[in-house]
Amino acid sequence: MNSKQGRNTVKKSAIRIVVSGVVQGVGFRPFIYRIAHQFQYTGWVKNIGFGVEIHLESDKKTDFKDFLKALQETQPPLSQIEEIILERAPFLNLKEFTIQKTKGGESFVFISPDISICESCLQEMMDPSDRRHHYPFINCTDCGPRYTIVKSLPYDRSETTMRSFTMCEDCRKEYTHPLDRRYHAQPVACPVCGPRIQLTHSRTGKPLKGGIRKAASLIKEGKILAVKGLGGFHLICHALNLKAVLRLRKIKERETKPLALMARNLEIIEKYALPTPAEKELLLSARRPIVLLKKKKEIAGIAPHLDELGLMLPYTPLHYLLLEHLDLIVATSSNKKDAPIMKDEEEGIRRLCDYILSHNRPIYMRSDDSVIKVVDEQPLFVRRARGYVPYPQKVHPEIVVPQHILALGGELKDTISVYKNGYVVTSQFLGDLDEYQNFKYFEETIQHLTQLFKAHPELIVTDLHPDFHTTRYAQKSGLPILQVQHHFAHILAPLLEQRIAPHKKVLGVSFDGYGFGEDGLAWGGEFLIADYSSFERFAHFKYVPLPGGDVAAKQPWRMAVSYLLDAYRSKYPAVKSLKKVEKKKIQGVMSMIEHDVNSPFTSSCGRLFDAVSFLTGLSPLEVEYEAEAPMILESAATEDTTQSYDFSTHGHSSPVQISFAPTIRSIIKDLDQNIRVSSISSKFHNTIARVIASVAEKARKEQNINTVVFVGGVFLNKKLLHRATALLGKKGFTTLRPMNYSPNDESLSIGQIAYALNKIKNKKSTKGGNFLRA
Ligand code: ZN
Ligand code: ZN
Ligand code: FE
Repeated sequence: MNSKQGRNTVKKSAIRIVVSGVVQGVGFRPFIYRIAHQFQYTGWVKNIGFGVEIHLESDKKTDFKDFLKALQETQPPLSQIEEIILERAPFLNLKEFTIQKTKGGESFVFISPDISICESCLQEMMDPSDRRHHYPFINCTDCGPRYTIVKSLPYDRSETTMRSFTMCEDCRKEYTHPLDRRYHAQPVACPVCGPRIQLTHSRTGKPLKGGIRKAASLIKEGKILAVKGLGGFHLICHALNLKAVLRLRKIKERETKPLALMARNLEIIEKYALPTPAEKELLLSARRPIVLLKKKKEIAGIAPHLDELGLMLPYTPLHYLLLEHLDLIVATSSNKKDAPIMKDEEEGIRRLCDYILSHNRPIYMRSDDSVIKVVDEQPLFVRRARGYVPYPQKVHPEIVVPQHILALGGELKDTISVYKNGYVVTSQFLGDLDEYQNFKYFEETIQHLTQLFKAHPELIVTDLHPDFHTTRYAQKSGLPILQVQHHFAHILAPLLEQRIAPHKKVLGVSFDGYGFGEDGLAWGGEFLIADYSSFERFAHFKYVPLPGGDVAAKQPWRMAVSYLLDAYRSKYPAVKSLKKVEKKKIQGVMSMIEHDVNSPFTSSCGRLFDAVSFLTGLSPLEVEYEAEAPMILESAATEDTTQSYDFSTHGHSSPVQISFAPTIRSIIKDLDQNIRVSSISSKFHNTIARVIASVAEKARKEQNINTVVFVGGVFLNKKLLHRATALLGKKGFTTLRPMNYSPNDESLSIGQIAYALNKIKNKKSTKGGNFLRA
């Protein structure tokens, strides 16, 4: 925090305070008004381009310490102060404190994410004498929808989807009174003037009486309902009604992918899961993510073969009212496989449910629920969306540039990032861009974020992959393009997030399923020594054939065969799990590999996990969702052991290659001796942690590197991340991992921004410079 405190010699004091961060549309000005009154200062507060400006004065000599303390310690829950600047100001002899009107003009204003209903609103809603008793759209300056209803900034009702609702007299009074807790709460509404719910039959479209109570009773009967939330529709059914759950799975075309649950309260959650204190805190936080918790009791059909359940608490008033009548429901995004969450009835929601509980407050920007797990008492994002977007991420001061930049990410689990004036704003999770609907969503989001933050990108950054939709979009944009290698971008994301100095060299452990390598091969088990400007491929997993290309990622047995051939050559021993596969198919794959047909080389870490998951008999023949086989393998790693398997290292100059042939042979031996799978899986996880430690020690010895960064989708594996962090910590390394973003491909766009900023800074390039490929 910068502080240039002014000093007055006369017995009068005046000060100018500029507060930047998320301080608009969160009740910040009325908060300033209140504390100014409390300490009896006069002056004014107004919104400016980057935050709020305050003029404060007193006819006594003071340093305003009381006010500044209150400013920092009792700020509104939705606000997020980035910086406070203090300056001496002229004494104007003002008689009162006022809130000044916002003027338009150039600005870079941040908007709060959508936030769960607050305690005060909840109490009002449950109070039978309150005029908003049981009103599902109650909100205030501390809570309610934001990002999903805003069309443009500055944040004003006319720029939100509340525009069409004219405030009644009572609401207007609250809205215009500076001491009211709904002062300038843009979505303010009541049963007289605000949005209304409607329950309809999905096939006939006929409205039903009974509202939320009726909706709850339909759920109890086993019906499937589409319920409109903040960022889109949920599909909801009773969580303990297996028949309903299986029908919902059929509708969603998802046989095994885990379904998220919403529970009435923490007590219910604790019946089925074992949340730690850190996990409870996250569940109860105003951002209300889905938290992945250790199972206590199995609920049939919800998360088969896994040891975790995804649970969340209600976050809209509507959810609270619905869950007054229900303990536990499935609340999953309303989409067919791989499509974006639906936000309007017109998008075909009727075909996915029996009844629709909707309302007439439109959703402007769709957004899924966020998903988080806790590793070593710290949050780890699996999916970052509702409640966290759009968080402004400050960059290291050495790479602040005047240009605006747009980064497009990768292809699967995409996000986009926009850079302007020292901050990066990253979009919500957008999904797999190979799906047409998701690509539309991607385009919508680029349009929205650049407009919202008044960004005019002069440069566009993408992945190195020539065929990604993002790369093609960039080529069509007409802007200069910069391309960044996938695993390098992964590593740069937490460096930007944690504002690591641009020239600091780290060892990036970038483990995922697939990313386009500089040699054109499929990378994924990478050790890169990197800073913001470049990387050296220090080590990688030994290349093995990926028989069938993309199909191999769906059918883990293919990788099992590939790794067996790598370990034993053509004659490998009989493996029980492979008996599930038709002999002809195995022979086909072997001959593909032998004759080098459609078997590109890969160093993928995800595919190694696939192979081991299949060899141990855990993985199904064909997986339904990404990382299914590795997730089942992780769930099985329950044995508390320090044992691990051998691996071997080949080559002396970088990149060194890590071979898992000895690992595979030891696993086969263990399987032969009927060693428990829980033990094999634990030993395998330890092996990967050891591999990381051995490469890190080599990097320290040869290049004096002491910081190790864990990135890539593989590091969503809690057990691996925990073990690797502990092992490297013991050896004296500093470890780093993303804290506010997912380690998976959602973070590519952030890393791409980091690379571009550094490149521009070092080139001292001006507009339209000739940017080279990374
Ligand atoms: Zn509230
Ligand atoms: Zn009203
Ligand atoms: Fe990746």
